[in-house]
Amino acid sequence: MTQVSRRIFLGSALGGMALASCPALALGRRPRAALAATPLAENLLLITGAGANVLAARGPGGALWVDGGLEAHSAELERFAHKELGTRRVTTLFNTHWHPEQVGSNLRLGKRGATIVAHENTRLWLGRKINVSWREGGFEPLPDKALPTQTFFYGKERLQHGDELIEYGYMRQAHTDGDIYVHFRRANVIAAGGVVTSEGWPFIDWETGGWIGGMIAGIDRLLEAADEHTRIVPAQGRLLTVEELKAQRAMYMTIYERLVKALTSGLSPAEALAQEPARGLNEHWGDPNPFLENAFKSLWGHYAPDA
Ligand SMILES: [Zn+2]
Repeated sequence: MTQVSRRIFLGSALGGMALASCPALALGRRPRAALAATPLAENLLLITGAGANVLAARGPGGALWVDGGLEAHSAELERFAHKELGTRRVTTLFNTHWHPEQVGSNLRLGKRGATIVAHENTRLWLGRKINVSWREGGFEPLPDKALPTQTFFYGKERLQHGDELIEYGYMRQAHTDGDIYVHFRRANVIAAGGVVTSEGWPFIDWETGGWIGGMIAGIDRLLEAADEHTRIVPAQGRLLTVEELKAQRAMYMTIYERLVKALTSGLSPAEALAQEPARGLNEHWGDPNPFLENAFKSLWGHYAPDA
């Protein structure tokens, strides 16, 4: 989930006016997803419009997906992806983290027997009630059929899907505490989930274990896996180059150092934000304050003010 989608979500959840002004929602119908497919390699598609970027790779036994969009779009996404890719079933589904834009096809595909791969922390979150300040009422546990069936802890794993070698690894605590990347080696494409954004400030879900120091460490994992030609697919928005990723790392490091200084000198979130810790950085991304507030609070579990 990004700051933008979070705002859209809060707007639709809390704004009765907004609901009433949208005829499809007022009639209780699901809004149609504006799905579009972009080929990234011969057997690999990027599908947009389902609530998050979805990657779909063709293999001899069926498709392998990275993330599944929002549940409201999953039926449409499944039909669209199979039509575009010429596949009939999904054999493997990766969840890059536990947020609803990533796991919305888990139940549909899990019921059909897909292997759902995720970090162990993602499976733990999805199997229990999650209470977070940004969602009134929290999130209920997913049904058993929707839970990841294959998890890992640290390090890196590999699997072969047709002619594509796929490496996936843990990014540790970054956007949440269960972020993974999925690297299509032959296509030289990395799905980076919510740790990376391309069109706005990221959302750090510090209440489920994300933190700004980990965002930087997560980007380092991607840079270790990538070469200069690798294309990086964020959870939302356009693809990034490795050069752009390096620039983001430098920017987050500057903000991180400014926020740590503010925290260790005993400032409150409001006092820290008053120092404008994102001054001069990525101004085209808009108001940084929601991001900065979460980034500052994310330090609470890692630093204490100097006595
Ligand atoms: Zn997310």
